[in-house]
Amino acid sequence: MLALHDTATSTVRRLLPDGAREMSLYVCGPTVYEMPHLGHGRALLVYDVLRRFVESQGVAVRHVSNVTDVDDKIIERAVREGTTPREVAERYEAAWWDASDRLGVLRPTSAPRATEYVAVMASMVAEMVAKGVAYVTPGGVYLDAGAVSDYGLLAGQPLESLRSGARVDVAPEKRGPHDFVLWKPSKPGEPGWDSPWGPGRPGWHTECVAMSLDLLGDSFDLHAGGMDLKFPHHENERAQAAVLGRSFSRHWMHHAFVTAAGEKMARSAGNFTTLTELVERTDPRAYRLLVLRSHYRQPLEVTRSTVAAAEEALERLDSLADRLSPDGQLLEVTADPDVVARFRSQMENDLDTPAATATLFGAVTRANAAADSGDERLSSSLGGAVLQSFSHVGLPLGRLFGRQASGPESAPGEEATELLRRREKARSDRDFATADALRAQLAEMGWTVEDTPSGARIRRSRR
Ligand SMILES: [Zn+2]
Repeated sequence: MLALHDTATSTVRRLLPDGAREMSLYVCGPTVYEMPHLGHGRALLVYDVLRRFVESQGVAVRHVSNVTDVDDKIIERAVREGTTPREVAERYEAAWWDASDRLGVLRPTSAPRATEYVAVMASMVAEMVAKGVAYVTPGGVYLDAGAVSDYGLLAGQPLESLRSGARVDVAPEKRGPHDFVLWKPSKPGEPGWDSPWGPGRPGWHTECVAMSLDLLGDSFDLHAGGMDLKFPHHENERAQAAVLGRSFSRHWMHHAFVTAAGEKMARSAGNFTTLTELVERTDPRAYRLLVLRSHYRQPLEVTRSTVAAAEEALERLDSLADRLSPDGQLLEVTADPDVVARFRSQMENDLDTPAATATLFGAVTRANAAADSGDERLSSSLGGAVLQSFSHVGLPLGRLFGRQASGPESAPGEEATELLRRREKARSDRDFATADALRAQLAEMGWTVEDTPSGARIRRSRR
């Protein structure tokens, strides 16, 4: 039975009751005003691994994740670029799903947008005002945090120490330091909706409460997001559910940050500036393997060298998969039950993916040794356990991956297409040195160039 660390109780405890056939999961999604960054990639992958593992155990997952498409940062960007907030939100939402698809992450079962939920949020705010736990000021409608007896539960530190921090908004109209905005007035020209408190828009913390209660019910299994969301975002979500008398999430999961060894996240330092760049320039499975090899509550270092090490490890795994499964099907053998059971119990122990992955790499070594000594049955059964277990956490290997790659991942991105175009130009100018250098650059990005009578084509290099 899967046990997970719960931020509210600071314990590792069972997530689902015995015999559960369904799990309800809410993951806080992106505010779409910039290209997805590396931290977003970890969030996508951590919950995709969780979801796929739970599903592999025969439990259906209802997975809701929101898209915040109205926000100050979106409006600021639109003003800066002389365009509309809607255009900005659409552009970066598309980039978000593109990166998510390339990582092989399952789309949520529902991905509601904030702008589709304004009426629901406004009626929730009205309910809080009617109950006397929210108050109306010229600067917006605020929730009185003092109305929640255990306010601060998720923060994990005394509220006094948070008060001085930058994470608590300062506004002169607030009655208490932890009161937070539920509805804020819109300035002329900004997106706004009519309300009993004048034209305005909902506060960010209200969005996830309205959506989770609506789509998952009054009480659901798991609410998840990055450590930075514990306070004030999740605390403030919990506070609203509490004053509305809803029981809300039974379990809270938070994952740790992405680091780059103190290196500046800049192209000149050889690191990836955005998630989109990473998925275009590397094997899309490499980031998933990095996520699997680190515990979700520990910081994860994502640099060019850690990603390259993951790509090398994938090559080892792929060559075993191809050796054991020449037709690209999952092996028709009994997967070694000890390896499968060990992997499962390690995953069930607070998603101990580093230990579970180490179990599989140990089995790879033994499968290779068995194949070398001619023991086909043993190598097939160990290899079958490896392929099956990795596929349960969304990591297809060998030709299994090749088959999957006939989907969107196999399409070259803008950068590869541009390099190919420049190579064509160099060849027609008979500048073969430049053409060769461009071919090498494409190879480094994982693309093989084929010259055909009808022109050059590129395809994913075999790994
Ligand atoms: Zn949220």
